[in-house]
Amino acid sequence: MYDILPVLGSGLVICGALLLAMAIGPVWTLFRQLPIGGLRYSWGFLILLILFFIAGYVVYAKFSLVKSYQPLDLVVPIIFFCGAIFVFVVCSLSLKTTSDIMQLYALKQENITDSLMGIFNRRYLDRRLKEETQRAQSYSKPLSIFMIDIDHFKIINDNYGHQIGDLVLKNIAQNIKESLRESDVLARYGGEEFVVILPRTQISTSYKLAERLRQVVENTQLPLPEEPGIDMLSIGVTVSVGVAGLTSECKDYLCLIKNADRALYQAKQNGRNQVVMG
Ligand code: GH3
Ligand code: MG
Ligand code: MG
Repeated sequence: MYDILPVLGSGLVICGALLLAMAIGPVWTLFRQLPIGGLRYSWGFLILLILFFIAGYVVYAKFSLVKSYQPLDLVVPIIFFCGAIFVFVVCSLSLKTTSDIMQLYALKQENITDSLMGIFNRRYLDRRLKEETQRAQSYSKPLSIFMIDIDHFKIINDNYGHQIGDLVLKNIAQNIKESLRESDVLARYGGEEFVVILPRTQISTSYKLAERLRQVVENTQLPLPEEPGIDMLSIGVTVSVGVAGLTSECKDYLCLIKNADRALYQAKQNGRNQVVMG
């Protein structure tokens, strides 16, 4: 009657080995997706461990076939089998969870990024500016912003068309981004207008940074694609900038925007390609 037990025990262990082999699939996918580094090596080590266990399972199954069995001896193959189920479930869940998190992250990035310029969008700007204003008020820290508008941008659209206009916008956005500090936040405010949030920065420092940025834009030639009818290889643009900061009279983000906008208007009135402090 107990003749069937060795076959049953070996069968369970072999099924466990197959499950372990199946668990290598998701681990291998994770291993391939990860950049070279510690985490990748850890998943690679896990693959080696699983292979080692598969070999152990096969050897055990072979020996248990020739072993005399009592019903209680089945406990070990059952534990082997359940262990393999556990490894398979954990590995599959790791892959599924990682891809879900990656999708969520991509969605979140899409939600806060301007698709044309590759910088933060207006939705993110509004939220972040509110947060930064509250934080600056709570900790009595300075906060300032720039409002930047490209000078005579309509002429670029009129002369070269909207597609080139878009390309110029994208290049200027990247140009501005590279001139800022790590802690500064650049976002598209609308059309060809940008806002930069400068946390923990006095307005006098912001003015100097804005002036430096204005000069960088003025001195940079933006490359143009080769197109029939367009002889120029690059194009130069200038920007006007309004700077505003939190003060005892200007305490909220709406006031900051209003003052920066007013300063920008003044810069335009004064002849463009300049920075005005609000
Ligand atoms: P000013 O110096 O007074 O700012 O002159 P301007 O011509 O730049 O005037 P304004 O800022 O009012 O005009 C913005 C122009 O930018 C008008 C609009 O056609 C163009 N524009 C806004 N958004 C985009 C965009 O996403 N792509 C392109 N190609 N053009 C845009
Ligand atoms: Mg403009
Ligand atoms: Mg404008």
